[in-house]
Amino acid sequence: MTTVAAYAAPAAKAPLERTTIERRAVREHDVLIDIKFAGICHSDIHQVREGWGEAIFPMVPGHEIAGVVSEVGPGVTRYKVGDRVGVGCMVDSCRECDNCRAGKEQYCTGGNVMTYNGIGKDGEPTHGGYSEKIVVDEDFVVGIPEGISLDEAAPLLCAGITTYSPLRHWNAGPGKKVAIVGLGGLGHMAVKIAHALGAEVTVLSQSLRKKDDGLRLGADHYYATADPATFEELKGAFDLIVSTVSAPLDLGAYLSLLRTDGALVNVGAPEEPVSLNLFSVIGGRKTLAGSSIGGIRETQEMLDFCAEHGIGAEIELIGAAEINEAYERVLNSDVRYRFVIDAATI
Ligand SMILES: [Zn+2]
Ligand SMILES: [Zn+2]
Repeated sequence: MTTVAAYAAPAAKAPLERTTIERRAVREHDVLIDIKFAGICHSDIHQVREGWGEAIFPMVPGHEIAGVVSEVGPGVTRYKVGDRVGVGCMVDSCRECDNCRAGKEQYCTGGNVMTYNGIGKDGEPTHGGYSEKIVVDEDFVVGIPEGISLDEAAPLLCAGITTYSPLRHWNAGPGKKVAIVGLGGLGHMAVKIAHALGAEVTVLSQSLRKKDDGLRLGADHYYATADPATFEELKGAFDLIVSTVSAPLDLGAYLSLLRTDGALVNVGAPEEPVSLNLFSVIGGRKTLAGSSIGGIRETQEMLDFCAEHGIGAEIELIGAAEINEAYERVLNSDVRYRFVIDAATI
């Protein structure tokens, strides 16, 4: 066991504070990673505040982890000391179900192990990236290509893969009209990736406040959803809409923006149930769907794609002492576009 410094929430809704945690000794197939950067994901805040149900405390959040390998177990074949690597939302899965066998560990039916706020197969609670080091089985570690700096790579491990996976699954590409709802941490990655995939990209944001940014990041069009004329003008316009917002949406209004056979995919989740008149999907044979992160192979594919296209996250680098303030700013949509913690300050 190794004792490492970390930032943890001691109880639900409590501010995060500096503490120490134990990391397990490196096992046969484990990689020890010196964490360099950890992104702050909106879901860290949902979980610290128990917005998605009962959670495990003390909690060290963080599932957008970028670092460097500092030790490997004797059975490790894919990584060596000095490699640039990342860890996302999962650190293990059952490895036996149909989904795991197909590389869709995010939909593991046997129960996957989340990077934090989870219980590992050894019965110990998992702790995330707001810490100096982490020990992870090599099968849940991905390589970060040279073309992306580690600080800009960290948010790709959740925000990047969460948007890449549905964009690929629903075939965003040349000739397709794709709308991204919300230009935050997830949304800004969705715009960059959809643009790099060759789709015609529209941002649907509450106001035009971030329009210049949206166009700079790769959007072709930008509309304010607070303006009712937007929903008139864009009726039937899109093949695919990816909603990244976690506030409740008028789903019927957004479904009306789809073409026949179009899909509205949610990657953001409001804390309360939503209601829908099903005629919104019956007319036009529309799909209302959701999508959760991505598999490990797909995460590696996303990182390689981002390196090839020069895509990293737009980040605000902060010290660990600023985490609580950063949470408040995320809740106020006051970040462009992802806070990343410099792990050297933990
Ligand atoms: Zn996340
Ligand atoms: Zn499984």
